[in-house]
Amino acid sequence: MIVVMSPNATQEDLVNVVKKLESMNLRTHLSKGDERTIVGVIGDKKIIANLEMEMMAGVEKTVRITEKYKLVSRDFHPQDTVIDVDGVKIGGNEIVVMAGPCAVEGLEQLREAAQAVKKAGAKILRGGAYKPRTSPYDFQGLGVEGLKLLRQVADEFDMKVVTEIVDREDIEVMENYADILQVGARNMQNFQMLKALGKSKKPVMLKRGLSATISEWLNAAEYIMAGGNENVMFCERGIRTYETFTRNTLDLSAVAAIKELSHLPIVVDPSHGTGRRPMVAPMSRAAIAAGADALIIEVHPHPEKALSDGNQSLKPEDFQKLMENLGEIAKAVGKTI
Ligand code: PEP
Ligand code: MN
Repeated sequence: MIVVMSPNATQEDLVNVVKKLESMNLRTHLSKGDERTIVGVIGDKKIIANLEMEMMAGVEKTVRITEKYKLVSRDFHPQDTVIDVDGVKIGGNEIVVMAGPCAVEGLEQLREAAQAVKKAGAKILRGGAYKPRTSPYDFQGLGVEGLKLLRQVADEFDMKVVTEIVDREDIEVMENYADILQVGARNMQNFQMLKALGKSKKPVMLKRGLSATISEWLNAAEYIMAGGNENVMFCERGIRTYETFTRNTLDLSAVAAIKELSHLPIVVDPSHGTGRRPMVAPMSRAAIAAGADALIIEVHPHPEKALSDGNQSLKPEDFQKLMENLGEIAKAVGKTI
């Protein structure tokens, strides 16, 4: 349920409303807008069903929220959330680009990639140190060594780090090296890990599951927020459909859906979303036009030698050209890049 305070409610009215709710063992979540404050209420459904708040001073109305997700919902928090990743803001007027190789393969490869993507305008360096591969015989990543390389190279080029977490036991060590913890598609419903990430101080990028519905995805984000971590962003990376030409079907309508239903930022991954290098640039442009807050793009200095996802990785020169192109699209939707 949300309690909508009237525009002329006083601070005392608000305090009284919160006190009453908390005295009934309900949790409150305040969202202060320009005009009015909204008090989100979470807790025992039976208690909430019998609540009478309209009589209290300063209360304009109450609205029942039927969806299971609350904290991620735009009803609870009408304004867009902007996540501050150590100075890089995601969800505001500026579109942020994260780029780098699929996997960290070594210092030289990572440095070459970072230098190229930074020069082209990327602010966040991507790269997997733990790779959730479909086959156990494929390259599994460099582990902690990969995390150390990411931090070292990102610092060298004044970038932030986004990297995937595959095991909740790794949270502590990853927090030492990463700025954003990425939950991969295969772990979107790893609820124990989502709960553990709820206790982390690091922003989390939650990729959409291989065939997850929008509602399942929102509920997965709710797990993280319910634990206390408010810095969650979504990442659309394509879903499985009957189409086989592309690796996945990039669902750009999900961008509009998330913007309608949630206040959290949304990132688009056109690399995994298509699996095909020639489609990465057009889908990046389309993602920005659809309202994405950020892009995450795979770039490899030598894609033909990549240990994973070479077919979808841009060459540095392709990435440079793409970045030169995106400004016009951003401008058309009232943003900058
Ligand atoms: C990745 O970003 O490297 C990755 C494995 O992505 P996804 O979880 O979307 O498959
Ligand atoms: Mn990849």
